Amino acid sequence: MKVLVTGGAGFIGSHYVRSVLAGAYGPAEDVLVTVLDKLTYAGNRANLPAADDRLRFVRGDVCDLQLLLDLLPGHDTVVHFAAESHVDRSLESAAEFVRTNVLGTQALLEAALRTGVGRVVHVSTDEVYGSIDEGAWTEGFPLLPNSPYAASKASSDLIARSYWRTHGLNVSITRCSNNYGPYQHPEKLIPRFVTNLLEGKPVPVYGDGANRREWLHVDDHCRAVHLVLTRGRAGEIYNVGSGSEHTNMELTERILDSCGADSSMIRFVADRKGHDLRYCLDDSKIREELGYAPRIAFDDGLAETVAWYRDNPNWWKSVKHGLPSTTGRGE
Ligand code: NAD
Repeated sequence: MKVLVTGGAGFIGSHYVRSVLAGAYGPAEDVLVTVLDKLTYAGNRANLPAADDRLRFVRGDVCDLQLLLDLLPGHDTVVHFAAESHVDRSLESAAEFVRTNVLGTQALLEAALRTGVGRVVHVSTDEVYGSIDEGAWTEGFPLLPNSPYAASKASSDLIARSYWRTHGLNVSITRCSNNYGPYQHPEKLIPRFVTNLLEGKPVPVYGDGANRREWLHVDDHCRAVHLVLTRGRAGEIYNVGSGSEHTNMELTERILDSCGADSSMIRFVADRKGHDLRYCLDDSKIREELGYAPRIAFDDGLAETVAWYRDNPNWWKSVKHGLPSTTGRGE
């Protein structure tokens, strides 16, 4: 297998690349991975092995069609993670979200089509559905994204579907719930709270903390992406959930507990504009069709994640405060 992974220096993409190279999805001696990543503030070359003959790292922009046309020949598959991914940033400045997430996805699909790549997975998010007070979304629910981030991802999903429907490109879409795990940028909720507590700082909870999310360990997400890559059907969308749903307050209490802190460290802050109340996926399609089931229980995954941040201060301090990392991957 020769796979091009866009955004492979980010949180989820780098976990996917490390898993492929480690043989987590099958024999890996003959695997070749090309990572295409722009190394924005969210990308970190140190998230990937420093030297591995099976890995080629290319710093570049997924919007650069000519670069993609030069790079793609010879690859059988593409897994597309590259995106601007932080909702709060999309509220401040949405243009880069539209550029990378919409135009970048279109450029990648166009290049895959022109160079005859056999299989593409476009990695999307549950946020495209909007917010749901009760019940759970199946893949047939309408797209009602609320933030500019979610709207840019919904747009890219529709472009991906159009390349399948119009041109017959072999592309599938995954829509996953909130991920957590090692190497996640400290701007995101769990690493932000954990690293704040490790620094003796309070944790900022939006509004009254009633917002509910479904949390999935990054390792389960990546396994689902690979299942869809190898066994999913063209033109299909697969929700990837966990069934592990928690309010932000419940989550905050668990993090405080794991870090040996108490509720005196909580600071309630003004709610995020347009904050979606609840996300919940019905992922029976991927479970029944591809045999997917998450393996990591939330309490175990959270404890392991907290331990990883405790053990790797060099990694997150360099990312959070722009300090040089002295230990490479921080392991
Ligand atoms: P991330 O922000 O950690 O990583 C994104 C990566 O993309 C970075 O390495 C960055 O340098 C790269 N990138 C950004 N713009 C680029 C460009 N123009 N060209 C090339 N590379 C570029 O994001 P993540 O959390 O790893 O998310 C990966 C994907 O999974 C995204 O598509 C996101 O929408 C989706 N997703 C994330 C979650 C989550 O909870 N984090 C949940 C569901 C879906």
